[in-house]
Formats: sequence, C-alpha cells, structure tokens
Amino acid sequence: MKEACGVFGVYAPGQGVAQLTFDGIYALQHRGQESAGMAVSDGEALTVVKDMGLVTTVFDERTLACLPGDLAMGHTRYSTTGASEWRNAQPVYRSVGGSGFALGHNGNLTNTAALAAEAGMLPGVIASDSDLVAELLARRFPAPADGSPPAEGALEKALMAVLPVLEGAFSFVLLDATHVMGVRDAHGFRPLCLGRLGPADQPDGWVLASETPALDIVGATFVRELEPGELVIIDDSGVRSAQAIAVERVDPHLCIFEFVYFARPDSRLYGREVHAARRRMGEKLAAQAPVDADLVMGVPESGVPAAEGFATATGIPHGQALVKNRYIGRTFITPGQGAREDGVRRKLNPLRENIDGKRIVVVDDTIVRGTTQRAVAKMLREAGAREVHLRISCPPVMWPCFYGIDIPRRDELIAAHSSIAELEEYLGVDSLAYLSLENLVAAIGAPGAGFCSACLTGNYPAPVPVTLAATASAPASASAPASAERHVSPAPA
Ligand code: SF4
Repeated sequence: MKEACGVFGVYAPGQGVAQLTFDGIYALQHRGQESAGMAVSDGEALTVVKDMGLVTTVFDERTLACLPGDLAMGHTRYSTTGASEWRNAQPVYRSVGGSGFALGHNGNLTNTAALAAEAGMLPGVIASDSDLVAELLARRFPAPADGSPPAEGALEKALMAVLPVLEGAFSFVLLDATHVMGVRDAHGFRPLCLGRLGPADQPDGWVLASETPALDIVGATFVRELEPGELVIIDDSGVRSAQAIAVERVDPHLCIFEFVYFARPDSRLYGREVHAARRRMGEKLAAQAPVDADLVMGVPESGVPAAEGFATATGIPHGQALVKNRYIGRTFITPGQGAREDGVRRKLNPLRENIDGKRIVVVDDTIVRGTTQRAVAKMLREAGAREVHLRISCPPVMWPCFYGIDIPRRDELIAAHSSIAELEEYLGVDSLAYLSLENLVAAIGAPGAGFCSACLTGNYPAPVPVTLAATASAPASASAPASAERHVSPAPA
C-alpha cells in the first residue's frame, strides 16, 4: 500500500517561504517520493519549481535562494492516477490573464471521466486529477482581455463553483499571487491541518499541511484540522473559512489507514498521536489473540509501535530480530512474486543470535499480497526460530481503494480469497491473527470520529466508478449502479 501525496502551504511575509516550504515537504516525504515541487509568490507573480525525485534531490540551497516571496505551497507525489513522469509532478500551474495559480492534490477523484466529458475535454487531454481540477478552475476565471490580473477573490469564487461537483477524495492546497488556500472533500478522507506562526495574539504567518510534523518542523503551532468540506483562505487580512461543500453532504470518513500505516508516528489526527494509537493497537491485539512466546518483534518500521504495545500487554520481551537497510529507497520491483521476495531480502536481514531457538511473535500492520510476511517467516525459520506467530494490527485488507491509496486489485489481495488456515500455510507461520475493526477503532480512541474502512469492509462511503468497481470485483451491494449511470452508490457505511 502506498501513500498518495503530501501538501503544504505557507503565508509568512518576510520569513523565507521557500525554505519553510522545503522544510514542510521534507517532513511529508513519506507521503510521496516520486516527485517534489513548490510554487512561490512574490505578491505579483508565481514561480514554480518541480522535478522527479526526492525533496532533497529537487531542491538545494541555490534553488531556494532564487525563490524570494511571501507565500508558497509545496507537494510530494506518489502517483495513483496519471503516470509517474515530469508532466504530472505537482504543483500544477495555470496562467489566467496576467497572473496564475498553482494547485497540489492529495487524494483521488472518482468522477474524473464524467467531469472531463461534461467539460467537453477529449480523452487523453487530461494528464491527472490535478490537471483536470486546474483546468476546471481556469475555465471559471474571466481572464481580463488586457492581460491584467484577475479580480480579487477570483480563485475563491472559482473554487466555490468547482468543488461541489468533485467526487472522491481530495485535500488541495492552492496558491495565487496573494492567497494560500486549503480545502478538504466532503468526507475528509485525507488529512489537512492549519498551523500558526508567531504568538496567538499577534500571528505573523499561517501554515497548511497534510500532517502536523510539517507544522512542527517550521515552528508553527497546531491550530486545528480543516473540517471536511471546508475551504480556508489565507491572505494579508488573516485566515477566513468558507463552507465549500453543502453541509448536508459532509460525512466525515478519515482514512483509517492514516492511523494504521500512512501517517508519521509523530502525527496527530483527530487529536490523537498516531504512535500512541499504534501501541494501543498492539495492546488490543495481545488481548484479542494472545500467544506464548519468547520474543515480540515488529516488522521494521511501521510494525514496531504495535509490537511494543503487544509486548507491554503480554510481558513478553520486545526485541529486534530483523535489521532494515536504512539506505534502501523506494525499491523498484518488477511484478512477480519471486522478484518481490528478493526485494524483501534486500531490505531486511535477520539477527541470528536474537532468533535462534526462540518462539517469536511477529507484529506487522497489514497483509496485502503476503510477500513481506512470507519472506520474513522464512528468514526467521532459517535463522533458527522455533515458532513464528504472526499478529496483524488491522483487519484483513479485502477490497481496493478508490480514494487515493494504491492497493492492488482484489484478486491480488491474499486475504480476499484465503481462509486463516490457508494463509498460515502459505505464509509459513504457526498462527495468524488480525486485530478486529472494533478493536482498531477502540485503539485509536477518538469516540464519535468517522472513519473510512472500505478496503476492510467493502462499504464505500462515496460513490466509486462502475468500471473500476467491476475490475475490482466489488461487493454485490456495490456492483450495480443504483442511482446513476456512471457511478456506484455506496454500500451503507
Ligand atoms: S479504502 Fe482503505 S485505504 Fe482507501 S481511504 Fe478507505 S480506509 Fe483508506
């Protein structure tokens, strides 16, 4: 499972916004490693710099020094729609009259084809969701005939017209010459928060970011998460908020995998620290599926906090049994199980003295194809483990995601077509247990908060495209269009 982008925006006159944006997107690097970019405004014109690669590959001191300005936005990308190539790197820029705007997107629209068709765009013209949204916004600007900048508030007005027709998952950050803006979709699938620079009674800047560590790194104080359907506008008059999507459509469903895996452990979502939530997942897992063992280990890195929780709850020592090559980047692995297993071996290596003769509990956050867990179990046994018990800190992933996370087709999701006994045999473990959804939600500990768990349950909170649903073997309740030709009505969430 792969994240799908980090977004960042800052309004901070006189404070070196290019450097702040660099720091912000560097803190969001885990959300996308394919490309990085930023747009900076000096109050009149925007400059966009973007390229394929990591934040530190795309930007250096010399580049940042050439980007003076008072407001900026940045983006790190992992592609879910649109190829991984330069033309799809973000921010996307559109010129309008004598000015322009830039846009960065985290999420995935589910009605892209319909929007493009309705706007009369030919197939193949639109490179990505962001490209489409930028085009729809640009069409809403009356470009002044004399080439002068659009009227004050033109981008906000365009957004208020376009946002209500978008479906699916989006957290956008936008920039024009004098405004930074952020918006979340009606379900709030992807996170977006607001921070303040300077003291509360006299702020000297504002920050928008996918996750709170990006606020921390630039010295901003967390103010609040944006509400689903909310548009926040930041300019020289401060921060304003507008309801961009009708309140009747607002139905909070933050992606539950932000807590399980995607977000940084030091992020706070729904007022809860992600690392602490992951530890509680391990504690609940220990209570739900205990096992006698000599050592608890987490699959590096994301399985470790839950392993710590499991160990605390059971009293079984927590230790390291695998070392991760920390210099391994985003490994390009050709399709095929053998190649994927080689990729795991390149990444992880056993600590034999910690393993030999022991009964080991392996805690991981997810099973997708089972590649990692199978390779890990084999490695542990070859290093002398007497027993290997696998504990997973979330329920089985059974359905694909249409809201911005790259999950394989359903036929590749091993839990979708295997019993627990079959999985134990295939993975080569003595026992396997998953945390229940009820316990996962309880571990997060945000009573009343709404979550999307569609990839675990098949209950999609927002319509998904029929064509995609069909290829994904969607559940019967979502396999036939109920109320629209092009879309599947969601099953009750
Ligand atoms: S389907 Fe799964 S990965 Fe996608 S938004 Fe929902 S919970 Fe997150």
